[in-house]
Amino acid sequence: RFEGVTSGPPDPYYELLEAFEADTSDTKVNLWVRAYRVELQPFVLNVVKKAEKLMLEKGEDKEYLPMDGLAEFNKVTAELLFGANNPVIQEGRVATVQALSGTGALHLAAAFIHGNFPNAKALISSPTWSNHKTIFDDAKVPYSEYRHYDPISKQLDFDGMIADIKAAPHGSFVLLHGCAHNPTGMDPTPDQWGKIADIIQEKNHIPFFDVAYQGFASGNLDADAYAVRLFVERGLELLVAQSYGKNLGLYGERIGAINIVCSSSETAVRVKSQLKWLIRPEYSNPPLHGARIVANVVGDPALFNEWKQEVELISRRLKSLRQRLFESLSCKDRSGRDWSFIVKENGIFSLIGLNKAQISNPHGSAYQIAHALAVSVFLILHAFWYVLHCVFVRLSQIDNMRNKWHVYMIKDGRMSLGGLSLSQCEYLADAIRDSFHN
Ligand code: PMP
Repeated sequence: RFEGVTSGPPDPYYELLEAFEADTSDTKVNLWVRAYRVELQPFVLNVVKKAEKLMLEKGEDKEYLPMDGLAEFNKVTAELLFGANNPVIQEGRVATVQALSGTGALHLAAAFIHGNFPNAKALISSPTWSNHKTIFDDAKVPYSEYRHYDPISKQLDFDGMIADIKAAPHGSFVLLHGCAHNPTGMDPTPDQWGKIADIIQEKNHIPFFDVAYQGFASGNLDADAYAVRLFVERGLELLVAQSYGKNLGLYGERIGAINIVCSSSETAVRVKSQLKWLIRPEYSNPPLHGARIVANVVGDPALFNEWKQEVELISRRLKSLRQRLFESLSCKDRSGRDWSFIVKENGIFSLIGLNKAQISNPHGSAYQIAHALAVSVFLILHAFWYVLHCVFVRLSQIDNMRNKWHVYMIKDGRMSLGGLSLSQCEYLADAIRDSFHN
């Protein structure tokens, strides 16, 4: 019976992992690792260790949780996001449900959208975390993309973003990265968030925030919730997926939440009941351990303060990695390329531009002169050249990183700084510069 089963497509992340593990080079660098590590080592926050010690001392049981999760967790997670004094909390207008980390929260929300708004469309940023597409596909929610990033200027494509959100059908679900955008590290300014909210209100869209890195952008948990709180203040109904994978380092505990802000407490009760019915056939009720850790850390003033300091430290360390890499890239660079975008971005990710920079940023190399000639002589040849460029140059740069320098990254050129050590920055800068000229 099972002979007829065909293989699923390979996952590029796990293929890279195997290749990286098999590489015996002392200088190998992992630029796709998704966890934050300190000098290459997995990192457990002190507050997590303290909370676990407390939990052990209390001798808590292992009974099932209700379908919507641990009540103390749901309370503190919504408070962390919206602020404890936010009227939406006081008025009971938020349906909060514990979820299987950020991925599970996004998937629950997508299934909720599919079930309750069968004709709705979603809008996701271009580029975005690849799993967003997989999640919407799986939940059968059709989506299109809005421009988020200009790879030439390495800045937010704000005009493109506004134009595309405006052009989307009324009432679309607009997926927004709350902070520390993955993979570009480029977030809107407070003023730009205001304008995004204006257009979303004008079009009667429904904002759907993905908050997977609260605290990683500015180092401040409240400041990183700015966008979510602004949209709530505008009186909008919205969804927010949360993850404690990164900011509490609880990757494998799979702890997060989906919060749906409604116009009334009665609606919130009905919405919550729908979420529960999505959970029931899937996993019945969520796991305990991570929820208890979060409830103990966020719900205890002393541990909460300590966590804030730890998050600030992580964010500062990420910034110092960016600074070191920027300096290492700039100091030996004779191409005149501007690397300052690296220090302007937020969080853990950067699109270094290893595949696209040559198309858009000519600096007089033989390749680019030939490219210019091709453009002026034959338009068709240009199109042909462009296709060749996209297919071969992109691969060869990333392959050069891997084959010559033992630096492993995914094909879109995304770098995760989370797995980088300060001492690797100079080596990495040499590899990047070399690969740009490859
Ligand atoms: N959203 C974004 C933008 C992410 O980058 C991630 C993690 N890579 C997630 C959600 C979900 O992560 P997790 O399921 O581990 O919480």
